[in-house]
Amino acid sequence: MDINGQTSLIGIVGHPLTYTISPQMHNAAAEALGLNLCYVPLVVEAGDLEAAVNGLKALNFKGVNVTMPHKETIIPLLDGLDDGVRAIGAVNTVRIEAGKATGYNTDARGFITALGEAGFDAAGTKAVVVGAGGAARAAVLALAEAGAEISILNRTPERSRALAGEMKERFPNFRIKILEFGAELADKFVDAKLIVNATPVGMKDSKDETPIPTALLDSGQFVFDLIYEPDETLLMREASARGAVAIGGLSMLIHQAAASFEIWTGVQPPIDLMRAAAVKALRPGR
Ligand code: NAP
Repeated sequence: MDINGQTSLIGIVGHPLTYTISPQMHNAAAEALGLNLCYVPLVVEAGDLEAAVNGLKALNFKGVNVTMPHKETIIPLLDGLDDGVRAIGAVNTVRIEAGKATGYNTDARGFITALGEAGFDAAGTKAVVVGAGGAARAAVLALAEAGAEISILNRTPERSRALAGEMKERFPNFRIKILEFGAELADKFVDAKLIVNATPVGMKDSKDETPIPTALLDSGQFVFDLIYEPDETLLMREASARGAVAIGGLSMLIHQAAASFEIWTGVQPPIDLMRAAAVKALRPGR
């Protein structure tokens, strides 16, 4: 990378940033396209966020990605919000132009693009989304826009009810139900063609756990686990063993990053190259 006086700056704001692979993906894409920009990690503690946003403007950054713990707290510090941010309630991308910072969320687009890439058409389908946090919100928004019928299953039912209520207000014709863990869960899963895991259950610390009982999985289903590390979760292994199609979260991660890149540069990045950079960063030696 040849950094010079015309190099544009983009970065990722979060704390900590030990595990991010965004710099590798974005710098690989910029280099392949011959764009003079550099993507850097910006470790910002919670109390410094307002100063950081002002600093990014003063330093003429083109934009940033936003990650934990700032995805929600950055909202009141921005000058404008894309519609998707209002639905999801979190920002993962900021574009800075003429001193104004606008917030976006590219997770819904990343989710639906990854699903389409894997050959699943969500229109008119019945889906179960497990979880009611930020990733679940993005998945539910994308599935509602695609015309799916959704059931939300979450450990804390109040959160699924709140999410369903908000989505119903947004899409009055949207068919959305709340499921609760219990005996009659199997009946509710019978018709579901798409199962989405939007919880961290199955990640490194809980790699021997699965968010739903194996008995609920069958061969007619498509299982999308949003976890990208490890690349194959217990849920995915169990789904495959029962004949279902299972994919992990890496493609969503790449497509949400590609959507951010497009917001900053107006250029579609090379997806395969971003994927190769992500795999190299996550799984060195493979
Ligand atoms: P979040 O906002 O903290 O939400 C976590 C959700 O998981 C909540 O609904 C929570 O339930 C539930 N949950 C947490 N621990 C649980 C447990 N032990 N048992 C049952 N439910 C549990 O997190 P998030 O940002 O939505 O992220 C969720 C997952 O999606 C993470 O694995 C993350 O890596 C992944 N993700 C992937 C991508 C991608 O691009 N592939 C993007 C974003 C997120 P309660 O409401 O009961 O607390």
